[in-house]
Amino acid sequence: MRRLRTQVGIIGAGPAGLVLANLLGRAGVACRVVERRSREHVEHRPRAGLLEHRVVAALRREGLADRLLADGVPHGWCAFRCLGRDIRVDYAARAGGRRHWVYPQQLLVRDLIAALAGHGPPPMFSQTVRAVEDVTTGRPRLVCDGIEIECEYVVGCDGFRGAARAALPATRGSVFGHRYPYDWLTVLAEVDRPAEGVVYAVHPDGFAGMMPRTSRLSRFYLQCAPGDTVRDWPARRIREQLRARLSPLPEIAGFPDVHVLRMRSSVTEPMRHGRLLLAGDAAHLLTPSGAKGMNLAIADAIALASALLRRYRDGDTGALDAYGARRLPHIWRAQEFSDRLLRLLHLPPDKAGDQGFALRLRLAALERLGEPGPHAVAFAHEYVGSGAGETEGTREAEGAREAVSTEGGGWP
Ligand code: FAD
Repeated sequence: MRRLRTQVGIIGAGPAGLVLANLLGRAGVACRVVERRSREHVEHRPRAGLLEHRVVAALRREGLADRLLADGVPHGWCAFRCLGRDIRVDYAARAGGRRHWVYPQQLLVRDLIAALAGHGPPPMFSQTVRAVEDVTTGRPRLVCDGIEIECEYVVGCDGFRGAARAALPATRGSVFGHRYPYDWLTVLAEVDRPAEGVVYAVHPDGFAGMMPRTSRLSRFYLQCAPGDTVRDWPARRIREQLRARLSPLPEIAGFPDVHVLRMRSSVTEPMRHGRLLLAGDAAHLLTPSGAKGMNLAIADAIALASALLRRYRDGDTGALDAYGARRLPHIWRAQEFSDRLLRLLHLPPDKAGDQGFALRLRLAALERLGEPGPHAVAFAHEYVGSGAGETEGTREAEGAREAVSTEGGGWP
Protein backbone atom coordinates (compact mmCIF):
# COMPACT_ATOMS: atom_id res chain seq x y z
CA MET A 1 0.00 0.00 0.00
CA ARG A 2 1.43 3.39 -1.06
CA ARG A 3 0.86 6.12 1.52
CA LEU A 4 0.64 9.82 0.63
CA ARG A 5 -0.02 12.89 2.75
CA THR A 6 -1.63 16.17 1.82
CA GLN A 7 -3.49 19.02 3.43
CA VAL A 8 -6.75 18.89 1.45
CA GLY A 9 -7.87 15.73 -0.30
CA ILE A 10 -10.40 16.50 -3.06
CA ILE A 11 -12.54 13.74 -4.52
CA GLY A 12 -13.67 14.45 -8.08
CA ALA A 13 -12.27 16.47 -10.99
CA GLY A 14 -15.51 18.16 -12.02
CA PRO A 15 -16.01 21.94 -11.93
CA ALA A 16 -16.24 22.03 -8.09
CA GLY A 17 -13.12 19.97 -7.38
CA LEU A 18 -11.01 21.69 -10.02
CA VAL A 19 -11.94 25.25 -9.03
CA LEU A 20 -11.21 24.40 -5.40
CA ALA A 21 -7.87 22.79 -6.26
CA ASN A 22 -6.84 25.81 -8.33
CA LEU A 23 -7.68 28.35 -5.64
CA LEU A 24 -6.02 26.35 -2.84
CA GLY A 25 -3.01 25.25 -4.89
CA ARG A 26 -2.23 28.79 -6.00
CA ALA A 27 -2.27 29.93 -2.38
CA GLY A 28 0.22 27.24 -1.41
CA VAL A 29 -2.16 24.78 0.26
CA ALA A 30 -1.20 21.23 -0.70
CA CYS A 31 -4.04 19.35 -2.43
CA ARG A 32 -4.58 15.99 -4.06
CA VAL A 33 -7.45 15.61 -6.53
CA VAL A 34 -8.53 12.00 -7.03
CA GLU A 35 -10.74 11.30 -10.07
CA ARG A 36 -12.08 7.88 -10.99
CA ARG A 37 -12.36 8.66 -14.71
CA SER A 38 -9.52 9.26 -17.17
CA ARG A 39 -8.43 12.77 -18.11
CA GLU A 40 -9.61 12.09 -21.65
CA HIS A 41 -13.07 11.20 -20.33
CA VAL A 42 -13.62 14.26 -18.12
CA GLU A 43 -12.26 16.61 -20.78
CA HIS A 44 -14.80 15.33 -23.32
CA ARG A 45 -17.89 14.77 -21.14
CA PRO A 46 -20.62 17.08 -22.49
CA ARG A 47 -22.98 18.39 -19.83
CA ALA A 48 -23.81 21.95 -18.82
CA GLY A 49 -23.10 25.02 -20.89
CA LEU A 50 -24.66 28.13 -19.36
CA LEU A 51 -22.53 30.04 -16.89
CA GLU A 52 -24.12 32.68 -14.70
CA HIS A 53 -22.96 36.26 -14.69
CA ARG A 54 -21.71 36.18 -11.06
CA VAL A 55 -19.86 32.90 -11.60
CA VAL A 56 -18.03 34.19 -14.66
CA ALA A 57 -17.20 37.38 -12.77
CA ALA A 58 -15.73 35.35 -9.92
CA LEU A 59 -13.76 33.05 -12.26
CA ARG A 60 -12.45 36.08 -14.08
CA ARG A 61 -11.33 37.70 -10.89
CA GLU A 62 -9.49 34.51 -9.98
CA GLY A 63 -7.77 34.41 -13.36
CA LEU A 64 -9.62 31.25 -14.40
CA ALA A 65 -11.76 32.64 -17.21
CA ASP A 66 -9.33 33.63 -19.99
CA ARG A 67 -10.38 30.94 -22.48
CA LEU A 68 -14.01 31.21 -21.46
CA LEU A 69 -14.04 34.94 -22.20
CA ALA A 70 -12.12 34.45 -25.45
CA ASP A 71 -14.15 31.55 -26.86
CA GLY A 72 -17.47 31.66 -24.97
CA VAL A 73 -20.50 33.51 -26.25
CA PRO A 74 -22.40 36.00 -24.08
CA HIS A 75 -26.10 35.29 -24.04
CA GLY A 76 -28.91 37.51 -22.79
CA TRP A 77 -32.28 36.33 -24.08
CA CYS A 78 -34.45 33.26 -24.13
CA ALA A 79 -37.74 32.45 -25.82
CA PHE A 80 -40.80 30.50 -24.73
CA ARG A 81 -43.05 28.79 -27.29
CA CYS A 82 -46.63 28.09 -26.23
CA LEU A 83 -49.90 27.79 -28.17
CA GLY A 84 -48.28 29.11 -31.35
CA ARG A 85 -46.85 32.19 -29.60
CA ASP A 86 -43.14 32.98 -29.34
CA ILE A 87 -42.41 35.07 -26.26
CA ARG A 88 -38.97 36.54 -26.22
CA VAL A 89 -37.50 37.46 -22.83
CA ASP A 90 -34.59 39.88 -23.03
CA TYR A 91 -33.39 39.13 -19.55
CA ALA A 92 -30.00 40.86 -19.91
CA ALA A 93 -31.78 44.14 -20.62
CA ARG A 94 -33.86 43.68 -17.45
CA ALA A 95 -30.88 42.68 -15.31
CA GLY A 96 -28.72 45.74 -15.93
CA GLY A 97 -26.80 44.19 -18.83
CA ARG A 98 -25.74 41.02 -17.00
CA ARG A 99 -25.59 38.01 -19.26
CA HIS A 100 -24.90 34.30 -19.26
CA TRP A 101 -21.87 32.90 -21.02
CA VAL A 102 -22.35 29.87 -23.22
CA TYR A 103 -19.26 27.71 -22.75
CA PRO A 104 -19.44 23.91 -22.68
CA GLN A 105 -18.62 22.35 -19.31
CA GLN A 106 -16.00 20.02 -20.79
CA LEU A 107 -14.04 23.01 -22.12
CA LEU A 108 -14.11 24.68 -18.71
CA VAL A 109 -12.92 21.41 -17.15
CA ARG A 110 -10.08 21.29 -19.70
CA ASP A 111 -9.08 24.88 -18.84
CA LEU A 112 -9.19 24.21 -15.11
CA ILE A 113 -7.00 21.11 -15.43
CA ALA A 114 -4.48 23.07 -17.51
CA ALA A 115 -4.51 25.91 -14.97
CA LEU A 116 -3.51 23.48 -12.20
CA ALA A 117 -0.07 22.97 -13.74
CA GLY A 118 2.59 24.47 -11.55
CA HIS A 119 0.42 24.60 -8.42
CA GLY A 120 1.05 21.10 -7.17
CA PRO A 121 0.67 17.53 -8.36
CA PRO A 122 -1.73 16.91 -11.26
CA PRO A 123 -5.03 15.17 -10.49
CA MET A 124 -4.75 11.42 -9.99
CA PHE A 125 -6.95 10.25 -12.87
CA SER A 126 -8.42 6.74 -13.24
CA GLN A 127 -8.21 6.30 -9.48
CA THR A 128 -11.44 5.60 -7.57
CA VAL A 129 -11.84 6.58 -3.93
CA ARG A 130 -13.29 3.42 -2.37
CA ALA A 131 -13.82 4.84 1.13
CA VAL A 132 -13.35 7.96 3.20
CA GLU A 133 -12.27 7.00 6.70
CA ASP A 134 -11.59 8.64 10.06
CA VAL A 135 -13.40 11.84 9.16
CA THR A 136 -14.12 12.64 12.79
CA THR A 137 -10.43 12.48 13.68
CA GLY A 138 -7.77 15.04 12.80
CA ARG A 139 -6.45 12.78 10.03
CA PRO A 140 -9.16 11.68 7.58
CA ARG A 141 -8.04 9.24 4.88
CA LEU A 142 -8.95 8.58 1.26
CA VAL A 143 -8.70 4.88 0.56
CA CYS A 144 -8.06 3.96 -3.08
CA ASP A 145 -6.82 0.78 -4.75
CA GLY A 146 -3.23 0.35 -3.51
CA ILE A 147 -3.03 3.97 -2.25
CA GLU A 148 -4.07 5.71 0.94
CA ILE A 149 -3.99 9.49 1.24
CA GLU A 150 -3.87 10.98 4.71
CA CYS A 151 -5.38 14.47 4.75
CA GLU A 152 -6.19 17.29 7.12
CA TYR A 153 -9.53 17.90 5.37
CA VAL A 154 -11.41 15.95 2.73
CA VAL A 155 -13.74 17.69 0.29
CA GLY A 156 -16.27 15.54 -1.53
CA CYS A 157 -16.74 17.05 -5.00
CA ASP A 158 -17.65 13.65 -6.40
CA GLY A 159 -21.29 14.10 -7.33
CA PHE A 160 -24.47 12.57 -6.00
CA ARG A 161 -23.28 8.96 -6.10
CA GLY A 162 -19.73 9.49 -4.93
CA ALA A 163 -17.72 8.16 -2.02
CA ALA A 164 -18.14 11.27 0.15
CA ARG A 165 -21.90 10.94 0.60
CA ALA A 166 -21.46 7.22 1.20
CA ALA A 167 -19.16 8.08 4.12
CA LEU A 168 -21.86 10.05 5.92
CA PRO A 169 -23.42 8.08 8.78
CA ALA A 170 -27.11 7.39 8.20
CA THR A 171 -27.97 8.98 11.54
CA ARG A 172 -26.39 12.31 10.72
CA GLY A 173 -28.35 15.14 9.13
CA SER A 174 -31.01 14.88 6.46
CA VAL A 175 -31.29 14.44 2.74
CA PHE A 176 -34.25 16.37 1.37
CA GLY A 177 -35.19 14.97 -2.01
CA HIS A 178 -37.91 15.24 -4.62
CA ARG A 179 -38.70 13.02 -7.61
CA TYR A 180 -40.61 14.73 -10.43
CA PRO A 181 -43.34 12.75 -12.24
CA TYR A 182 -41.48 12.84 -15.59
CA ASP A 183 -37.96 12.46 -16.96
CA TRP A 184 -36.05 14.33 -19.65
CA LEU A 185 -34.41 12.86 -22.68
CA THR A 186 -31.22 14.89 -23.16
CA VAL A 187 -29.77 14.91 -26.65
CA LEU A 188 -26.66 16.48 -28.04
CA ALA A 189 -27.31 17.17 -31.74
CA GLU A 190 -25.08 18.08 -34.68
CA VAL A 191 -26.73 21.07 -36.31
CA ASP A 192 -26.15 23.01 -39.52
CA ARG A 193 -26.27 26.36 -37.70
CA PRO A 194 -25.93 27.23 -34.03
CA ALA A 195 -29.04 27.62 -31.90
CA GLU A 196 -29.40 31.37 -31.60
CA GLY A 197 -30.66 31.23 -28.05
CA VAL A 198 -32.29 29.15 -25.37
CA VAL A 199 -35.80 28.13 -26.41
CA TYR A 200 -38.35 26.46 -24.12
CA ALA A 201 -41.54 24.96 -25.55
CA VAL A 202 -44.62 24.22 -23.48
CA HIS A 203 -46.58 21.72 -25.56
CA PRO A 204 -49.45 19.27 -25.06
CA ASP A 205 -47.04 16.39 -25.91
CA GLY A 206 -44.64 17.62 -23.20
CA PHE A 207 -41.89 20.12 -22.63
CA ALA A 208 -39.05 20.54 -25.14
CA GLY A 209 -35.97 22.75 -24.93
CA MET A 210 -33.10 23.84 -27.17
CA MET A 211 -29.81 25.17 -25.72
CA PRO A 212 -26.87 26.58 -27.67
CA ARG A 213 -23.52 24.89 -27.09
CA THR A 214 -21.05 25.40 -29.95
CA SER A 215 -21.32 26.48 -33.60
CA ARG A 216 -22.01 22.85 -34.59
CA LEU A 217 -23.67 21.39 -31.50
CA SER A 218 -26.88 22.13 -29.63
CA ARG A 219 -28.41 20.40 -26.63
CA PHE A 220 -32.08 19.45 -26.81
CA TYR A 221 -34.34 18.26 -24.03
CA LEU A 222 -37.61 16.34 -24.43
CA GLN A 223 -39.93 15.54 -21.55
CA CYS A 224 -40.52 11.78 -21.48
CA ALA A 225 -42.38 9.31 -19.31
CA PRO A 226 -40.72 8.51 -15.97
CA GLY A 227 -38.63 5.37 -16.34
CA ASP A 228 -38.22 5.69 -20.14
CA THR A 229 -34.85 4.51 -21.41
CA VAL A 230 -32.81 5.49 -24.45
CA ARG A 231 -34.18 2.41 -26.20
CA ASP A 232 -37.67 3.96 -26.10
CA TRP A 233 -36.29 6.90 -28.12
CA PRO A 234 -34.89 5.90 -31.53
CA ALA A 235 -33.57 8.80 -33.64
CA ARG A 236 -36.75 8.85 -35.74
CA ARG A 237 -38.93 9.42 -32.66
CA ILE A 238 -36.58 12.12 -31.34
CA ARG A 239 -36.77 13.98 -34.66
CA GLU A 240 -40.57 13.68 -34.81
CA GLN A 241 -41.04 14.97 -31.29
CA LEU A 242 -38.55 17.80 -31.67
CA ARG A 243 -40.38 18.89 -34.82
CA ALA A 244 -43.80 18.60 -33.19
CA ARG A 245 -42.92 20.47 -30.00
CA LEU A 246 -40.16 22.89 -30.96
CA SER A 247 -40.26 23.87 -34.66
CA PRO A 248 -38.69 25.83 -36.28
CA LEU A 249 -35.45 23.92 -35.77
CA PRO A 250 -31.98 23.95 -37.33
CA GLU A 251 -31.23 21.02 -39.67
CA ILE A 252 -30.05 18.10 -37.51
CA ALA A 253 -27.37 15.77 -38.89
CA GLY A 254 -27.15 13.34 -35.98
CA PHE A 255 -27.34 12.68 -32.28
CA PRO A 256 -23.87 11.86 -30.89
CA ASP A 257 -25.01 11.70 -27.27
CA VAL A 258 -28.45 10.63 -25.95
CA HIS A 259 -29.33 10.00 -22.29
CA VAL A 260 -32.34 9.96 -20.05
CA LEU A 261 -32.04 12.26 -17.05
CA ARG A 262 -33.99 11.10 -14.03
CA MET A 263 -35.64 14.29 -12.88
CA ARG A 264 -34.90 14.58 -9.20
CA SER A 265 -33.57 17.18 -6.81
CA SER A 266 -31.98 16.87 -3.41
CA VAL A 267 -30.10 18.80 -0.77
CA THR A 268 -27.93 17.25 1.93
CA GLU A 269 -27.82 19.10 5.23
CA PRO A 270 -25.48 19.88 6.87
CA MET A 271 -22.71 20.05 4.27
CA ARG A 272 -20.04 18.92 6.71
CA HIS A 273 -19.32 15.92 8.91
CA GLY A 274 -16.17 16.17 10.99
CA ARG A 275 -13.38 16.95 8.55
CA LEU A 276 -15.38 15.91 5.51
CA LEU A 277 -17.01 18.78 3.57
CA LEU A 278 -19.32 18.53 0.57
CA ALA A 279 -19.42 20.80 -2.48
CA GLY A 280 -21.30 20.76 -5.79
CA ASP A 281 -23.53 17.88 -6.82
CA ALA A 282 -22.26 15.90 -3.82
CA ALA A 283 -24.19 18.32 -1.62
CA HIS A 284 -27.14 19.15 -3.86
CA LEU A 285 -28.62 17.79 -7.03
CA LEU A 286 -30.69 19.99 -9.33
CA THR A 287 -32.55 19.24 -12.51
CA PRO A 288 -31.14 21.07 -15.57
CA SER A 289 -34.11 23.47 -15.41
CA GLY A 290 -32.74 26.97 -14.91
CA ALA A 291 -29.14 25.79 -15.50
CA LYS A 292 -28.05 26.15 -11.88
CA GLY A 293 -26.14 22.90 -11.14
CA MET A 294 -22.68 23.74 -12.48
CA ASN A 295 -23.01 27.32 -11.28
CA LEU A 296 -23.79 26.30 -7.70
CA ALA A 297 -20.92 23.78 -7.80
CA ILE A 298 -18.45 26.53 -8.72
CA ALA A 299 -19.90 28.97 -6.18
CA ASP A 300 -19.58 26.31 -3.43
CA ALA A 301 -15.95 25.74 -4.39
CA ILE A 302 -15.14 29.46 -4.28
CA ALA A 303 -16.79 29.88 -0.87
CA LEU A 304 -15.07 26.78 0.51
CA ALA A 305 -11.68 27.82 -0.83
CA SER A 306 -12.03 31.16 0.91
CA ALA A 307 -12.96 29.42 4.21
CA LEU A 308 -10.08 26.94 3.96
CA LEU A 309 -7.62 29.73 3.17
CA ARG A 310 -8.67 31.55 6.31
CA ARG A 311 -8.07 28.37 8.24
CA TYR A 312 -4.61 27.88 6.72
CA ARG A 313 -3.48 31.51 6.64
CA ASP A 314 -4.85 32.80 9.95
CA GLY A 315 -5.78 29.65 11.85
CA ASP A 316 -9.37 30.98 11.87
CA THR A 317 -11.88 28.13 11.52
CA GLY A 318 -14.98 30.37 11.83
CA ALA A 319 -15.62 30.58 8.08
CA LEU A 320 -15.14 26.84 7.71
CA ASP A 321 -17.63 26.19 10.50
CA ALA A 322 -20.12 28.55 8.83
CA TYR A 323 -19.55 27.25 5.27
CA GLY A 324 -22.72 25.11 4.98
CA ALA A 325 -24.96 27.55 6.80
CA ARG A 326 -23.85 30.33 4.45
CA ARG A 327 -24.25 28.29 1.28
CA LEU A 328 -27.59 26.62 2.04
CA PRO A 329 -29.82 29.71 1.55
CA HIS A 330 -28.29 30.17 -1.92
CA ILE A 331 -28.75 26.49 -2.69
CA TRP A 332 -32.40 26.50 -1.63
CA ARG A 333 -33.05 29.68 -3.62
CA ALA A 334 -31.61 28.01 -6.72
CA GLN A 335 -33.70 24.89 -6.04
CA GLU A 336 -36.82 27.02 -5.70
CA PHE A 337 -36.11 28.87 -8.96
CA SER A 338 -35.41 25.65 -10.82
CA ASP A 339 -38.59 24.04 -9.42
CA ARG A 340 -40.72 27.09 -10.29
CA LEU A 341 -39.45 27.09 -13.87
CA LEU A 342 -40.09 23.35 -14.17
CA ARG A 343 -43.68 23.75 -13.04
CA LEU A 344 -44.17 26.51 -15.59
CA LEU A 345 -42.74 24.38 -18.40
CA HIS A 346 -44.67 21.16 -17.70
CA LEU A 347 -48.37 20.48 -17.77
CA PRO A 348 -49.70 18.73 -14.68
CA PRO A 349 -49.54 14.98 -15.46
CA ASP A 350 -52.80 14.21 -13.67
CA LYS A 351 -54.83 16.81 -15.57
CA ALA A 352 -54.79 15.34 -19.07
CA GLY A 353 -58.36 16.54 -19.71
CA ASP A 354 -57.53 20.08 -18.57
CA GLN A 355 -54.68 20.75 -20.92
CA GLY A 356 -56.35 23.67 -22.66
CA PHE A 357 -56.84 25.42 -19.33
CA ALA A 358 -53.35 24.55 -18.00
CA LEU A 359 -51.73 25.69 -21.27
CA ARG A 360 -53.47 29.06 -21.17
CA LEU A 361 -52.48 29.61 -17.56
CA ARG A 362 -48.88 29.01 -18.57
CA LEU A 363 -49.13 31.30 -21.57
CA ALA A 364 -50.42 34.07 -19.28
CA ALA A 365 -47.51 33.52 -16.88
CA LEU A 366 -44.96 33.46 -19.73
CA GLU A 367 -46.35 36.67 -21.21
CA ARG A 368 -45.68 38.42 -17.90
CA LEU A 369 -42.02 37.38 -18.16
CA GLY A 370 -41.80 39.04 -21.57
CA GLU A 371 -43.36 42.35 -20.49
CA PRO A 372 -41.69 45.17 -18.56
CA GLY A 373 -42.37 45.13 -14.84
CA PRO A 374 -41.05 43.93 -11.49
CA HIS A 375 -42.04 40.30 -12.17
CA ALA A 376 -39.89 40.15 -15.32
CA VAL A 377 -37.03 41.99 -13.60
CA ALA A 378 -37.02 39.54 -10.68
CA PHE A 379 -37.01 36.59 -13.10
CA ALA A 380 -34.15 38.13 -15.10
CA HIS A 381 -31.92 38.56 -12.04
CA GLU A 382 -32.61 35.05 -10.78
CA TYR A 383 -32.14 33.43 -14.17
CA VAL A 384 -28.89 35.16 -15.10
CA GLY A 385 -27.48 34.89 -11.56
CA SER A 386 -26.79 38.58 -11.40
CA GLY A 387 -25.70 38.53 -7.76
CA ALA A 388 -27.77 41.67 -7.19
CA GLY A 389 -29.51 41.80 -3.85
CA GLU A 390 -27.14 39.30 -2.22
CA THR A 391 -26.23 40.40 1.26
CA GLU A 392 -23.81 37.64 2.13
CA GLY A 393 -20.79 39.74 1.24
CA THR A 394 -18.95 36.74 -0.16
CA ARG A 395 -16.01 37.13 -2.43
CA GLU A 396 -18.07 35.96 -5.38
CA ALA A 397 -20.63 38.72 -4.81
CA GLU A 398 -17.81 41.23 -4.62
CA GLY A 399 -16.45 39.82 -7.85
CA ALA A 400 -19.82 40.22 -9.51
CA ARG A 401 -19.98 43.87 -8.48
CA GLU A 402 -16.48 44.43 -9.78
CA ALA A 403 -17.40 42.96 -13.14
CA VAL A 404 -20.64 44.92 -13.35
CA SER A 405 -18.73 48.15 -12.89
CA THR A 406 -16.61 47.33 -15.94
CA GLU A 407 -19.57 46.47 -18.10
CA GLY A 408 -20.27 49.88 -19.56
CA GLY A 409 -18.16 49.15 -22.61
CA GLY A 410 -19.26 45.52 -22.85
CA TRP A 411 -17.34 42.39 -21.97
CA PRO A 412 -13.71 42.13 -22.93
P1 FAD B 1 -19.31 16.49 -11.36
O1 FAD B 1 -19.09 17.37 -12.53
O2 FAD B 1 -20.32 15.39 -11.48
O3 FAD B 1 -17.91 15.88 -10.97
C1 FAD B 1 -17.79 14.83 -10.01
C2 FAD B 1 -16.57 14.03 -10.37
O4 FAD B 1 -16.32 13.06 -9.34
C3 FAD B 1 -16.76 13.23 -11.65
O5 FAD B 1 -15.72 13.53 -12.55
C4 FAD B 1 -16.75 11.77 -11.21
O6 FAD B 1 -16.15 10.92 -12.16
C5 FAD B 1 -15.91 11.85 -9.94
N1 FAD B 1 -16.15 10.77 -8.97
C6 FAD B 1 -17.34 10.25 -8.59
N2 FAD B 1 -17.14 9.28 -7.66
C7 FAD B 1 -15.81 9.20 -7.46
C8 FAD B 1 -14.99 8.37 -6.63
N3 FAD B 1 -15.53 7.45 -5.80
N4 FAD B 1 -13.66 8.52 -6.68
C9 FAD B 1 -13.09 9.47 -7.50
N5 FAD B 1 -13.82 10.26 -8.31
C10 FAD B 1 -15.17 10.14 -8.29
N6 FAD B 1 -25.73 22.54 -14.85
C11 FAD B 1 -25.80 23.85 -15.20
O7 FAD B 1 -25.42 24.72 -14.39
N7 FAD B 1 -26.27 24.23 -16.43
C12 FAD B 1 -26.68 23.32 -17.37
O8 FAD B 1 -27.09 23.72 -18.48
C13 FAD B 1 -26.60 21.92 -17.04
N8 FAD B 1 -26.92 20.96 -17.95
C14 FAD B 1 -26.67 19.66 -17.64
C15 FAD B 1 -26.92 18.70 -18.63
C16 FAD B 1 -26.67 17.37 -18.34
C17 FAD B 1 -26.92 16.37 -19.41
C18 FAD B 1 -26.18 16.97 -17.07
C19 FAD B 1 -25.91 15.51 -16.75
C20 FAD B 1 -25.95 17.91 -16.10
C21 FAD B 1 -26.19 19.26 -16.37
N9 FAD B 1 -25.94 20.24 -15.43
C22 FAD B 1 -26.09 21.57 -15.75
C23 FAD B 1 -25.44 19.87 -14.11
C24 FAD B 1 -23.94 20.00 -14.05
O9 FAD B 1 -23.33 19.28 -15.08
C25 FAD B 1 -23.48 19.51 -12.68
O10 FAD B 1 -24.22 20.20 -11.69
C26 FAD B 1 -21.99 19.74 -12.48
O11 FAD B 1 -21.24 18.83 -13.25
C27 FAD B 1 -21.62 19.55 -11.01
O12 FAD B 1 -20.23 19.67 -10.85
P2 FAD B 1 -19.49 18.85 -9.71
O13 FAD B 1 -18.07 19.23 -9.82
O14 FAD B 1 -20.20 19.04 -8.43
O15 FAD B 1 -19.73 17.31 -10.07
